[in-house]
Amino acid sequence: MRASDPAVHPLAVHPSAGRGTLANVTAPSPALLAAPSTDVLGAAGVPTAVTASDRDAAAGAADWLDREQQDRWSRLLRAQDRDDFLAARIAADAVARRLLPDSPALPARLTFVQRCESCGGPHGRPRLPGIPLAVSWAHARGWVIAAAHRGERLGVDIDLLDAHAPIADSSPVSGRHFVRAEALVKAGAYDLDTALETALDWPESQDHRHRGLLVRDLQWPGGLIGALACD
Ligand SMILES: [Zn+2]
Repeated sequence: MRASDPAVHPLAVHPSAGRGTLANVTAPSPALLAAPSTDVLGAAGVPTAVTASDRDAAAGAADWLDREQQDRWSRLLRAQDRDDFLAARIAADAVARRLLPDSPALPARLTFVQRCESCGGPHGRPRLPGIPLAVSWAHARGWVIAAAHRGERLGVDIDLLDAHAPIADSSPVSGRHFVRAEALVKAGAYDLDTALETALDWPESQDHRHRGLLVRDLQWPGGLIGALACD
């Protein structure tokens, strides 16, 4: 990872731009996501306007998702969850594309493959076959984040949690611990239990270096917290 200015990019989904259309992915906004190096690019935003109607949503899903992902998308019960799911992939496409050299061979839509390392199902860490970028995304009740990285390992997580309060009664795990742990899991460092134990011991600081990973705390106004882990 190169140390340099933070690459900071918000994601906005333009309400009138039609389904699956991103606008404003380049305007800097330090409040949104301070990525730790120019090899990492992230975007975060509210995906409320990915699709204007159920029909737009179905067309957007058909545009952006492969067959298995469309099946997963269609099984989500709430429209907001379906929009979050779709917006996360659109955001991932936007940030990954910006880290790739201009190439006419790039398809109009990047195809993210998810194949679970445990059960083989179409979920788990996303990959871009043939493209040397790590990608990760997360969504939380109307918010999405996606990041891409010119490296091997990357994990991002967001959640609407109090950073300093326990996530459950009498739990030693705070919201902050939880999103750090999720980012570590998504970067392939640990299972969740081990990641939680690991993150519990960290001192108060925005950045932590741990076993070859940099873990950065993220924070937005309104109670949204997150973490990004990358090598
Ligand atoms: Zn699985």
